[in-house]
Amino acid sequence: PPTKLPRVGTTIFTVMSQMAAEHGAVNLGQGFPDFPVPQRLVDELDRAMREGHNQYAPMTGAPVLRQAIASKALRCYGATVDPDSEITVTSGATEAIFNAIHAVVRPGEEVIVLDPAYDCYEPAIELAGARAVHVPLDPATFAVDWDRVRAAVTPRTRLLMINSPHNPSGAMFSADDMRELAALLDGTGILLLSDEVYEHIVFDGRRHESVLRWPQLRERAFVVSSFGKTYHCTGWKVGYAIAPPALSAEFRKVHQYNVFCTFAPAQHAFAAMIRDEPEHDEELGAFYQAKRDRFREQLLGTRLKPLPVPGGYFQLVDYSEVSDLPDHEFVKWLTIEKGVAAIPLSPFYENPPAAQRLARLCFAKNEATLDAAIERLMAL
Ligand code: PMP
Ligand code: GLN
Repeated sequence: PPTKLPRVGTTIFTVMSQMAAEHGAVNLGQGFPDFPVPQRLVDELDRAMREGHNQYAPMTGAPVLRQAIASKALRCYGATVDPDSEITVTSGATEAIFNAIHAVVRPGEEVIVLDPAYDCYEPAIELAGARAVHVPLDPATFAVDWDRVRAAVTPRTRLLMINSPHNPSGAMFSADDMRELAALLDGTGILLLSDEVYEHIVFDGRRHESVLRWPQLRERAFVVSSFGKTYHCTGWKVGYAIAPPALSAEFRKVHQYNVFCTFAPAQHAFAAMIRDEPEHDEELGAFYQAKRDRFREQLLGTRLKPLPVPGGYFQLVDYSEVSDLPDHEFVKWLTIEKGVAAIPLSPFYENPPAAQRLARLCFAKNEATLDAAIERLMAL
């Protein structure tokens, strides 16, 4: 049959999870926690279903949840967001990213993507008939070279996509990055899509530079997040997009004919969590920092070299002391022969650096899972 996405196969996350299951490997590949969601969240979901929130939610999201998200934006970032005209609840961040791109990007236009980039960006751009223009991050630090971004701008550039904390590297934008970004976009018609799904998973006292903190960016941006990361429930697929009224209106045109609305009971459960346990957000960094520190300490006993992790729940490791295989082959060998599944970095790039020998390990896991992985990694 004709294909609109000739270069797309099965995502690396599915491929590696299947390989892990097939070979009984410890799965540190696909990013998802292996520990339970907060009991309170389960109780609230149960309550929402019993109270009868089982029919279509409003297309834009349950009012209680939009109100709660607005209160969270104010509490976390000092941003005043109108729940009615600026917040749309979506089926995960993935749907929000897809909608935002399709709402504003026309055929023949260009979208700037910073490589390595999460894998759902480019196919959505291609389906919109547009072209992804890839600008590499610094290969050592994953910092943005703003001059290179500026050089990639053309009269066809419609959208710039950013992601901090960053998947796969964990790198975070600084306040200087935000100022550079604002200067770059000032006076242009370029819109911004900010993927902030790891917004609360930040370490060592760093501050997450949400676009919501920066009014001159916010006025042209879709800010996307996901409850999957914040409440350890990636399978629930509830997220949201915050954008100014005119952009939200366009976004909703796509959302209403894409899914119309998102799983209603969960919307009530998240609203209750945000309202009653706001401290959850602030505690998440410390929760994951303990996992990161313990895992990194253990990795020092292996021949894998851990790179710095400012945020997110992924640890990049340099495996060049262990193997000279390209990353695809290395993770396959690691999964099948050594019993630990990881994610290669090359699928995150248009042009992966040829000599790069990095793999991504997810540390959103129980201690027992990480211990089992480390025991196997010690034998490399
Ligand atoms: N963006 C990034 C950077 C991600 O890592 C993920 C999921 N792991 C998503 C978006 C998608 O989030 P969701 O599962 O809520 O669709
Ligand atoms: N975002 C997850 C990761 O980076 C994967 C989500 C998925 O499998 N689609 O591992």
